[in-house]
Amino acid sequence: MNYLTEPQRQVEICASAEVLILGGGPSGIAAAITSARSGSKTILLERYGFLGGMGTAAMVTNFCGLHANINGAVQQIVHGIADDILARLENLGGLNAPHPIKGRNGGHDTAAQAYDTAAYKVVADELLKEAGVDIRFHSLAVGVAMSSKSSIDAIVLETKSGRKAIKAEMFIDCSGDADLAFWSGAKVEKGNDDGFIAYPTTMFRIGNVDDDLAHRLGRPNLNELIIKHGDNYNLPRKTGIINSQAHKGEWRANLTQISRRDGSPIDGSNWDDLSFAEAEGRRQVLEYHKFLKECVPGFQNSYLLETAAQVGIRETRRIIGSYVLTEGDVLGCVDFDDAIGCNGWPLEQHLKGAAKWTFLGGRGYHQIPYGSLIPIGVDNLLVAGRCASATPEGQSSLRVSGPCFVMGQAAGTAANIAIDTKTRPAAINSQELQSRLRNNGVFLG
Ligand SMILES: Cc1cc2nc3c(=O)[nH]c(=O)nc-3n(C[C@H](O)[C@H](O)[C@H](O)COP(=O)(O)OP(=O)(O)OC[C@H]3O[C@@H](n4cnc5c(N)ncnc54)[C@H](O)[C@@H]3O)c2cc1C
Repeated sequence: MNYLTEPQRQVEICASAEVLILGGGPSGIAAAITSARSGSKTILLERYGFLGGMGTAAMVTNFCGLHANINGAVQQIVHGIADDILARLENLGGLNAPHPIKGRNGGHDTAAQAYDTAAYKVVADELLKEAGVDIRFHSLAVGVAMSSKSSIDAIVLETKSGRKAIKAEMFIDCSGDADLAFWSGAKVEKGNDDGFIAYPTTMFRIGNVDDDLAHRLGRPNLNELIIKHGDNYNLPRKTGIINSQAHKGEWRANLTQISRRDGSPIDGSNWDDLSFAEAEGRRQVLEYHKFLKECVPGFQNSYLLETAAQVGIRETRRIIGSYVLTEGDVLGCVDFDDAIGCNGWPLEQHLKGAAKWTFLGGRGYHQIPYGSLIPIGVDNLLVAGRCASATPEGQSSLRVSGPCFVMGQAAGTAANIAIDTKTRPAAINSQELQSRLRNNGVFLG
């Protein structure tokens, strides 16, 4: 390998905060609003020019994990900041009513809720600004400066105005990729024991769909139609999801499966893989849309409305925290003494060629432990979202928007308690945390 030696240079410390949050996806949004509302001086860094993370940049357009099936009744179990977001989306006409998700293999039915990405971006802007968060868009974090082996001093970022640093007392990693945890030396892992990572998907939206026909005959028969006609197309994924959006004739498609040339999953924390994945994703979108038009009722006169700004990444690095949430915890509806909220989304594993769903039975939800947000090795860091501490199977459930809101709200609250009590997040009183969360609308189970 060839190397270029960079000349030593000074980096401007352009700001300081009590709580510095990396990433503006669902976990970062909830963490930032909560932290600022708690009274901490809060800055959020986001590489794009808008918030929402995969929910907007990758055009997910659907909140999963807000609901659970409790004793036969599908109910919303994620509240707190999530309620504020839902209410604002509703006001803007950017929210669908919850739609049913059919349980399989003895597991319970549940629900999900579609939204408009444009509305979500605006709602997130408003809520963060009103809370007093200093949002710094177009800020690509690239590293950390440590004040000791176990304490972060500042995040280093690249901007159009050059390289900068921002200092803080407490840091929350909501990057989805555990960037901050990785750079600061916390324990992280990627994929399962064989290195397998959940396959990414390039999402797309379709216009001029015949809603009635597509709901009656297209959506329910999609997977059978892929099997029946798939050989005539190049469709790497044999099970998919299509659904209508808030506005007439607009549908979203979660169909593609993006792999490297050797068929293994793209690693969304690898620059080469990411670059390759973008054009490959759009190539697949064209092929899947051709199949929809030619084979799926309701799509004959449709057109391709939009492809996502980036390939949708489900999983990269996860921290190995003080507790690692497992498949058994999710499916066994397990309770934790340090619970910060609940999740009832099924395991949703994106394996080669198909997504495998395992629905919860029993009570229909498990509690999320605070220990999954606590990294090992770094004292002034919390981690929330899809890179929190879980096995790959546990993460396949915990990563969706609902539990990300829960984890973000808990991390923002915990950071504030840690600052007020001059304690490490790992050492705060979890009953104090739970009481503050409950008072702010969180359902703890
Ligand atoms: C194709 C696909 C379909 C999905 N479908 C659904 C669904 O229907 N419903 C659902 O609820 N969930 C769904 N999910 C899962 C869900 O969207 C994500 O797991 C969730 O958004 C994770 O939230 P997060 O806050 O942890 O991270 P992310 O949403 O990934 O957000 C991370 C944020 O950090 C920013 N960031 C990252 N690194 C840096 C850096 N170095 N510097 C500055 N900024 C940075 C990113 O730009 C991003 O805004 C889907 C995911 C994918 C990929």
